[in-house]
Amino acid sequence: MLSNGRSYLAIPGPSVTPDRVLNAMHRPAPNIYTGELIDMTYSLMPDLRAVARTDHHVAIYIANGHGAWEAALSNVVSAGDTVLVLATGRFGHGWGEMADGLGVHVETLDFGNSGAFDLGIVAQTLAQDTDGRIKAVLAVYVDTSTSVRNDIKGLRDVMDATGHDALLMADCIASLGCDRFEMDAWGVDVTIAASQKGLMTPPGLGLVWFNDKAAAVRAQMPRVSRYWDWQPRANPEGYWQLFDGTAPTHHLYGLRAALDMIKEEGLENVWTRHAVLARTIWAACDCWGQGGPLTLNIADPAQRSHAVTSICIGSPDGDRLRAWMEDVTGVTLGIGLGREPTDAYFRIGHMGHVNAHMVLGVLGSLDAGLKALNIPHGDGALQSAANVVAAASIAP
Ligand SMILES: *Cc1c(COP(=O)(O)O)cnc(C)c1O
Repeated sequence: MLSNGRSYLAIPGPSVTPDRVLNAMHRPAPNIYTGELIDMTYSLMPDLRAVARTDHHVAIYIANGHGAWEAALSNVVSAGDTVLVLATGRFGHGWGEMADGLGVHVETLDFGNSGAFDLGIVAQTLAQDTDGRIKAVLAVYVDTSTSVRNDIKGLRDVMDATGHDALLMADCIASLGCDRFEMDAWGVDVTIAASQKGLMTPPGLGLVWFNDKAAAVRAQMPRVSRYWDWQPRANPEGYWQLFDGTAPTHHLYGLRAALDMIKEEGLENVWTRHAVLARTIWAACDCWGQGGPLTLNIADPAQRSHAVTSICIGSPDGDRLRAWMEDVTGVTLGIGLGREPTDAYFRIGHMGHVNAHMVLGVLGSLDAGLKALNIPHGDGALQSAANVVAAASIAP
């Protein structure tokens, strides 16, 4: 009854697709041999580099994030090689499982589900690897299951300090275009993303950026799966090499529109918008938590993502609240993931095409839901959230 009207899919991917992206995709199939599709596709490359803050190479795959994981791994490790996974949630483990499927030996440092990785332990592990078995360190920047944000620059510093030569590979699938990320300045060798989160485009494009160090590792590989090989995609002699077959035509038009939107807003402004909206959510949660069971999964604000927030409210109220929100208010929240019991958790996706009224709407809806379901909670959450938005609007 109250949910009719425009709904908000507030799950952490796929994110809200802007009308501008949808409209750009609404067109007849273009020619893939000559014509404007070709130039338009090449125009994406500098803007994709810009959004990852790199001057190096980028390859586009017709794939989701799991495909991008495998694509990146396939270029730098083969069966029998060793990688070190730094797990801070479900997605770190998932990337490790992908490597395991390729016959790669996976060592995992599991840092649990409620905080960032411990760089001291990483340093110890790397220092003990005196014969350099570890060929790559797999780090998820924002683990979408726990909503933790890891310190990628700090990881690079630790790798440099121990003199370890492994590649630093960062999964930025949830965070690119949301949380500040500086591939070159932070010394990341391989970056992975997908179209459907901060990049505001439907699922279907996997993105891999790599620097010259990673390209040199690729060049030493005994063989690389032809489809995943990033070399021809990043340095094509002809358009057909970009996708090793038919181009993902409509997705490319969608991505073009999304990158235009990011460029027009300015990447720094995009990051600031996400930061303010995240703080708005945290402010409300702090108030609710003062009079009830609600807690943010990541206690330390410095370790929280600006793209997604995982919240614990106790079993089975996570599930009850999600169902109530969808039925009554038209907001679909993300399920608990990577934490047990899953029905004690829910997640708010606030990545990409999200603004203050959408976030304030979710928070107002949550406040109503807590009341309707008789879940104890502190007062003043909405006021506190409004204060964050108000203060940001008048900040110099
Ligand atoms: C969404 C996500 C993935 C998986 O992406 P799919 O497109 O669902 O395959 C991997 N890692 C992170 C951090 C993600 O947020």
